Amino acid sequence: MRIFIALAVAFLPFGTIASAQDSEQITALKAEVTQSVEDNQKMVQEIVDSLFSFSELGFQEYETQHYIGNILEENGFDVTKDVAGLPSGWWATWGNGGPVIALGTDVDGIPKASQKPGVAYKDPLIEGAPGHGEGHNSGMAVLVTAALALQDVMERDNIPGTIVIWPGIAEELLAGKAFFTREGLFNDVDAVLFVHVGSSLAVSWGKARGTGLISVEYTFKGESAHSAGAPWRGKSALDAVELMNAGWNARREHLHPLQRSHYIISDGGDQPNVVPQTASVWYYIREMTAENILENYEKLNKTADGAALMTDTTVSHRVVGGAWPRHYNKPMAEAVNENMNAVGMPDWDETDQVFAKAVQALADTEQKGLDTEVAGVREPSEYPVSGGSDDIGDISWLVPTITLNYPANIGNLGGHNWRNTIAMATPVAHKGSTIGAKVIARTMVDLFMKPELLEASHKYFNDVQLAETTYAPFISATEKPAIEKNVDIMAKFKPQLKELYYDANKYDTYLEQLGITYPTLPE
Ligand SMILES: [Zn+2]
Repeated sequence: MRIFIALAVAFLPFGTIASAQDSEQITALKAEVTQSVEDNQKMVQEIVDSLFSFSELGFQEYETQHYIGNILEENGFDVTKDVAGLPSGWWATWGNGGPVIALGTDVDGIPKASQKPGVAYKDPLIEGAPGHGEGHNSGMAVLVTAALALQDVMERDNIPGTIVIWPGIAEELLAGKAFFTREGLFNDVDAVLFVHVGSSLAVSWGKARGTGLISVEYTFKGESAHSAGAPWRGKSALDAVELMNAGWNARREHLHPLQRSHYIISDGGDQPNVVPQTASVWYYIREMTAENILENYEKLNKTADGAALMTDTTVSHRVVGGAWPRHYNKPMAEAVNENMNAVGMPDWDETDQVFAKAVQALADTEQKGLDTEVAGVREPSEYPVSGGSDDIGDISWLVPTITLNYPANIGNLGGHNWRNTIAMATPVAHKGSTIGAKVIARTMVDLFMKPELLEASHKYFNDVQLAETTYAPFISATEKPAIEKNVDIMAKFKPQLKELYYDANKYDTYLEQLGITYPTLPE
């Protein structure tokens, strides 16, 4: 990578300024790739609708892998499946030499978020089944159509470079990307363009809003006994879980207010008349800095040890995932911003706005409708702002990275909820993803054609971002991905889901296949 940049820069007059001819060529190429995405909107819609219908949870994204893998192979990509210990993962490459630009996006869904698209009241496709209650079904449509637009012009004009497309596996468990980085997959990558569904067209640089986290599951082991016949002979692992949670809930008061932590009891025993010999509790421990995450993690470990001591049980723990707080690249964010402003927002029609307002009414929030202005580039906040995490954080400390938020969902619905599923196989998702693809395609033109942009990105990365921080992943060298997660849920629902997979050969859209009028509003 460094050699490539040094050589490329040496050939430029005055080192950093591209010639007028170059800039004309770049403008023309950008117009061309934008048009190519525009002409490929059918593919955007098919990918969005297909992944929506698969409704796969983390670590179980096999239909997604198969479907996207086929599209990429048909278009000349080398696709390696089952990478970094993640059987549903893949790493797809196309092109020759450097620079290497890696396009990524999350692909997993949310438990119990099944919902009919386009219907503005609760109406699950399959009761209790997973659904795309975040909108991760749309990101691959953005990336694949952007990449295909670039392939055409790169082939024709002999533009050197490699395009990589990779999925964020099990992002909702924050449990995939650190394994990708540990495997060394990003070692030869020059820049990462990550995309995430949102309700606005936006990018940021510097320390991102939100947290990093450690996802960790504690398992207590005790002794079973007849709960009524000989309770004194039992050592309840569930008591230990309850005491651990009580301890942590008291401790919260004395943690920094920006922390977020939450848990579920993943094993609470079998039946009341058997003292639980095993019980497990699964925590996400979030904070603003890696240092503070590790500090709270130590406190949580002590709380677990204390609970074991109180109950004569033993405790072990497993790190399920980890996500470093995110830091995004300034020169790349500025390039994205220029392209966002050139592309503009989707052309929402009155139907889209009526639909969006109905869903916002359903979510009991302000009925603002869909955003109509480009949100643009967000500078780092003066004060830290807490919130969610994405394990793109880990990658952002290895390679200059940005996340493009593209407007494919309705804003302010609460998140991780069936309401967030409603728009994700409708014109809102199709139009918003097309806009995202145009911005990414144009930014790839910048990255492939302007060595000075890559050089500036790496300078920011090395001199500013890494100046005071050294990345060390939260997962150890030997931790294994928790690929057993969600196996049971998918086994239960997959037969029903399969009957509803989108058939693009028969139906123009998934809405048409389901016989849904867009929008279907409450009476
Ligand atoms: Zn997400």
